[in-house]
Amino acid sequence: LLSIQHLDVGYVTRNGTVRAVRNVSLDVAPGEFLGLAGESGCGKSTLAFAATRLLDPPGAVLDGAVSLAGRDLLALTPEQLRQVRWKEFSLVFQASMNVLNPVLKIREQVYDAMQAHGITDKVKLDARARELFRLVGIREEYLDSYPHQLSGGMKQRVVIAIALALEPKLIVMDEPTTALDVVVQRQILQEISEVRRRLGISIVFITHDLSLLVEMSDRVAIMYAGEIVEQAPAHELYAQP
Ligand code: ADP
Ligand code: ADP
Repeated sequence: LLSIQHLDVGYVTRNGTVRAVRNVSLDVAPGEFLGLAGESGCGKSTLAFAATRLLDPPGAVLDGAVSLAGRDLLALTPEQLRQVRWKEFSLVFQASMNVLNPVLKIREQVYDAMQAHGITDKVKLDARARELFRLVGIREEYLDSYPHQLSGGMKQRVVIAIALALEPKLIVMDEPTTALDVVVQRQILQEISEVRRRLGISIVFITHDLSLLVEMSDRVAIMYAGEIVEQAPAHELYAQP
């Protein structure tokens, strides 16, 4: 589904170019849950942005090949990119909960996202919203709350529910639960893993916490200093000394 080949990403700064991603090649199969781990600063977020082109970081220079469902993402014009993002793939990151509009009820925001992507039937909207909330572990009555009435963890679940509502082929999640406590993180990760199995969505889940990924991922890739230094099925990583 996603194929990254020999990707290099550099940031052009006053003091020269920072090579944040170096010669990375990575494939994600349809429906696969890929965990991407590595210490802070190793290039995970840069890879996430470059692989989805959802937020090109300022000053970033990309080289190599990225294709998603056969489309060359590096060749798309901004207009073409607009047509496929969110619908075909999305990105959820730590601060995603801030995209929620404080003056709109959660229900309206979930409906808006689905309507923007062609689901307009009221009955379907309602059924879908309720199903997704159940799947990501939010009580239904929160649909009629405003964002400030929800905890950070709940808001983050709402954003994840919205991303899932659009049924993209791929969702990249960059430390979406890092601000939450470990028990909640684990729970959300488990729910995401379940949902993607049911909906057949591929997930790339990024975190600096390797142990969190080992149980839940099909495969784990480890980054160090801009490179992927290890890629293995999760159970094989466990077996190493
Ligand atoms: P991670 O997500 O693993 O913490 P990042 O992708 O954020 O890593 O950063 C990788 C490297 O690129 C780091 O050395 C970071 O300082 C650098 N970097 C990130 N964003 C920029 C930027 N906008 N300009 C210059 N350097 C950057
Ligand atoms: P436009 O098409 O006007 O550029 P956007 O692409 O920003 O608008 O947003 C299109 C729809 O996708 C909106 O309904 C928005 O709520 C939803 N959306 C925004 N951010 C995300 C995200 N991270 N994941 C999934 N859907 C999103």
